[in-house]
Amino acid sequence: MHPTMRRVQSGSILYYTCDKLPVRHAFTTKFGGVSTGPCESMNLGFGRGDAEETVRENYRRLCGALKMDVSRVTMTKQIHEDEVTVVTEQGVGMGLWQPMAWQSDAIVTALGDTPLAGFYADCVVTLLYDPETHTCGVCHSGWRGTAKGILGKTVDRMAASLGTKRDSLIAVMGPSIHRECFETDSDVPDAMEALLGAWVRPYVAEKGVKFHVDLQGINAALLCEAGLNAENVIDSGICTMCEHETFWSHRVTNGVRGVQAGVICL
Ligand SMILES: [Zn+2]
Repeated sequence: MHPTMRRVQSGSILYYTCDKLPVRHAFTTKFGGVSTGPCESMNLGFGRGDAEETVRENYRRLCGALKMDVSRVTMTKQIHEDEVTVVTEQGVGMGLWQPMAWQSDAIVTALGDTPLAGFYADCVVTLLYDPETHTCGVCHSGWRGTAKGILGKTVDRMAASLGTKRDSLIAVMGPSIHRECFETDSDVPDAMEALLGAWVRPYVAEKGVKFHVDLQGINAALLCEAGLNAENVIDSGICTMCEHETFWSHRVTNGVRGVQAGVICL
């Protein structure tokens, strides 16, 4: 685990934070909610077999612990594409309290008291915050989104639409599957190289007929290419597959599971 990461227990709710982010935020774990069965207990996603009211109750409990306004929680729509949306007042509550109207794996905002949530169960969810302009964002990148460079596009959108300063922007990549556990066939590294270029090769290890891809390393490189300072790019160092007692890992559960969220709020 990165030395700036902290494990926080608040009643029954367990989550992680990063000392580099001086705003309310959290990377959640399985623990502290009211869901039962495969989603026990802090499932924060719809469409996982959990009752909608149960998911909303989990948000109420989480936001209570984080001192965030649950009525303003706003969600990404995770379809492994590279669209980024700026959340304005009309979009507040999207996903949790009003039907999803965007197809955006990343959302960004300058609105205060507006928790942004992105979801993970192996994928990389990155929380972004710029203390100079007080702007923030959340970005979901699995390997497809990583190959499409969505994290760099999120930084570009923050700079263009919100005035975010790249040299003060902080990015924290949350718990996610790391290279030792992320075994793939050649399709994954091939797609990475086709879309991003040959520079990704050092982030791919060959092991027999399989490949191991360093998603966090590639995403960190994308952030630096987008203008962030290396010291402002943090990988939590927490692997969801190694730590599957604490986190749902898509691979460990074969997809029968709840989902965690990375949440950030100005
Ligand atoms: Zn692992």
